[in-house]
Amino acid sequence: MPIQENIQIKPIDSHCHLFDEKFNEDRIELIGTSFEKLDGLVIIIEEPFNISPSSLIKHPKIRYAVGYHPYYSEKVVAENLDTLNLFLNTGHVSGIGEIGLDYYHCKVPKDIQRKAFIQQIEFAHHHNLPIVIHCRDAEKDTYEILRDYHKNVPSVVLHCYGGDVDMVEHFLEMNCYISFAGNITYPKAVELRKSAEQVPLEFLLIETDAPYLAPQPVRGKRCLPGYVLYTAEKIAEIKKVDINDIIRSTNQNTRKVFSLG
Ligand SMILES: [Zn+2]
Repeated sequence: MPIQENIQIKPIDSHCHLFDEKFNEDRIELIGTSFEKLDGLVIIIEEPFNISPSSLIKHPKIRYAVGYHPYYSEKVVAENLDTLNLFLNTGHVSGIGEIGLDYYHCKVPKDIQRKAFIQQIEFAHHHNLPIVIHCRDAEKDTYEILRDYHKNVPSVVLHCYGGDVDMVEHFLEMNCYISFAGNITYPKAVELRKSAEQVPLEFLLIETDAPYLAPQPVRGKRCLPGYVLYTAEKIAEIKKVDINDIIRSTNQNTRKVFSLG
């Protein structure tokens, strides 16, 4: 499927994992070529204990979000979040994430996940930074925690949204941004497409979650940041608006949330 040809603006990938080992061979080259198709990247560092802050690639169109993925909730208590401070000191971090709850894989007991989640929201509060949330099969608990804490941070992004339509309404009531990834293009993702229909353009974000979740036309391949166009295209189709309007709004939202110039 060729991407639409009438694209006038380059999109921003608001969530990718370019420090994943799948990019070890060609990271710098890939980032360089990404800007042929993209106007910005938000790179997620979800294993801050595994990456040196000095290895962050500095570029005016790149911002970072750093946080302990729920898989590593146990480390949050042990490391006392000092690691995150080292990343903040680089001046290239403008978000805390991805943090949250994963009851699908549930590698860590739920109460420890909740504790680590709250602890990192408080860290974001202290530094006045937005949060990027990973929520899998844990919408209810995520909602309850956010109800208590969302006002403490400048903004909340629910990344790679996977909940149902009813929950979208609840998250929107708290002014959360809802971000959709390439899985919205999968034939079975009917509920996701209904959810996207509900999200007003001013709260919509798009992402790849690269190297995961390559969109349908390239499914099974290593996902690349440039594939965010497939998500933009699908959402334009769902919402029956011009793809340029989707890109314009999502770029504006991403720039605002992550202070991307
Ligand atoms: Zn992610």
